[in-house]
Amino acid sequence: ANWKKIHVQNRSKDELFEMEKTFNEMMDHLKDNFERQETFVSDASHELKTPISIVKSYAQLLERRGIDNPHLVKESIEAIHSEADRMGKLVEQMLALAKNKHHALMEQVDIVALIEETVTTFQRAYTREIIFTNHAVDAVILSGNRDQLEQVIYILIDNALKYSEERVEVDFDVWDKLAIIKVRDYGAGIPESEQARIFDRFYRVDKARSRDTGGTGLGLSIAKAIVKEHQGELTVQSTVGEGSTFTVKFPI
Ligand code: ADP
Repeated sequence: ANWKKIHVQNRSKDELFEMEKTFNEMMDHLKDNFERQETFVSDASHELKTPISIVKSYAQLLERRGIDNPHLVKESIEAIHSEADRMGKLVEQMLALAKNKHHALMEQVDIVALIEETVTTFQRAYTREIIFTNHAVDAVILSGNRDQLEQVIYILIDNALKYSEERVEVDFDVWDKLAIIKVRDYGAGIPESEQARIFDRFYRVDKARSRDTGGTGLGLSIAKAIVKEHQGELTVQSTVGEGSTFTVKFPI
C-alpha cells in the first residue's frame, strides 16, 4: 500500500465518507494479511514438528540400543537423513513463498526452450515416458523471471509423475496472445470437492501418500503465487480415475 499522510481539515462530507471507506478497506486488507501470516506460521511449525520428533526419537533409539545393533544404526541413519532432507525442502519452499512477495528480476525468456530443458531434465532422471509437444510455430518470448517460470513447470511435472504411474504429457500452444502450457497425467485424479483447496498452502488430498513421495503441500501454492506474479492463471481439470490436467496461461 502507498502510505500517504491524510489531512482531514477542509474536506467535504463526501470526501470524508470516501476516506473512511478507503481506510476501512485498508484495515480489512491488513487484517486479512496478518491472519494469513499467522496461519502460515502456525501451519509451518506444525509441519516441521513431525520430522523433528522423528529425528529425536531415532536419536533416542540409537542412544539406548545403537551399540551392537548395526541394523538399527543403519535404519536410524537412513531415517534421520530422509527427515533432514524433508526439513530442508520445507524451509527452501517456505523461503520461495516468502520471496514471491517481492518483485523478482524480469527478463526475456524463451518459454519453449525453457519447457524443453525442464522436460529433458526429468527424462534423464525417470524411465517413464514424458512427452513434450509444441503446437506453436515460432519461438515464444515471455517477460518473466526465468528461475521462477522453471519452478512452475518443474512443480507441475513433478506432481504429475508423483501422482500417476503412466506417461506424462506436456503441451505448449499460443492462443489469443496467451502462452498456454498444459501438463497432463493419467493418474488417480483429484475429486472435484478438493480441486480448489490443492492450491492452499500445506494442503494435501492424501497426507500419507504425499508424505511418502516427499510432498510438502507447498508446491502448488508456490506455483500459483509465481503465476499470479506473472499476471497469468493456473487452473486444474481433473476426473477421478482418469487423471489431471494443469493449465498455465501467461500473457505474451
Ligand atoms: P505436494 O508436495 O503434497 O505434492 P502440492 O501443493 O504440489 O503438494 O499439491 C497439493 C496436493 O494436490 C497433493 O498433495 C496431491 O494430493 C494433489 N495433487 C497435486 N498434483 C496432483 C496430480 N497431478 N494428480 C493428483 N493429485 C495431485
